[in-house]
Amino acid sequence: MTTISISTDEKLYKDFEMALQLNSETKDEVINTMIRDYISRTFSRIASSYKMENSFNSDIVGNNASEKATRKMHLWAKKTTQVPHKIIRAFLQLKKENDIVTYDMLATRCNDQSNHPDVYIPTFSSNFTQMKFDSEKSHGKVFELDDNNVVSLWNKIEPCIEQYKKAFILHTTDVGYINNNKLKNLGCTGKEGTDHLQYFYKMQCQKCGAIRDDVNGTNIYEAKCSNPNCK
Ligand SMILES: [Zn+2]
Repeated sequence: MTTISISTDEKLYKDFEMALQLNSETKDEVINTMIRDYISRTFSRIASSYKMENSFNSDIVGNNASEKATRKMHLWAKKTTQVPHKIIRAFLQLKKENDIVTYDMLATRCNDQSNHPDVYIPTFSSNFTQMKFDSEKSHGKVFELDDNNVVSLWNKIEPCIEQYKKAFILHTTDVGYINNNKLKNLGCTGKEGTDHLQYFYKMQCQKCGAIRDDVNGTNIYEAKCSNPNCK
């Protein structure tokens, strides 16, 4: 790891901090993404201006100029409140329940705040459009839409989605989620937790069976077994 420091004007920095809060992203994530974007744009511009045709260089263009979503997938998988996360999650939910997923099915699910709050997006259509092509300002291409309005995953991005599938399908607050300490989420207790705006969840150790019902929603991913003899 290398640490860099930069100078910027105060107003710009304040706006940057506000934007970070809105997106619930960290400075490191955003700046690393910008650096990657900058490098890839430079490489693809240079490559195209020299019309390089040997396979090595067309690989560079192929990996960086397209498949923008591949570089963001690890963040989208973690950030359950981000729009791309919700759209991918909604698509995977529908795909599990149906042979085909149409645009209307996806739009309906993402507009249904009362039955599907986890994937609710007030501005579905413009965001979905942002996930159909790669450009500097789009989210990055994930989906394809055919003439019959059937939505499918872009074949170049499919292996990447497959890799992160679990994180999209099962959130820490979902019943059945198992954390790294082998504690399984048995659901929300409905009792208010001790963290700001949190509820307590019931979790069961998959090694010794001990149950605890005092896990704050925000701590589910790291909760440990309460049994001191459990190894
Ligand atoms: Zn245990």
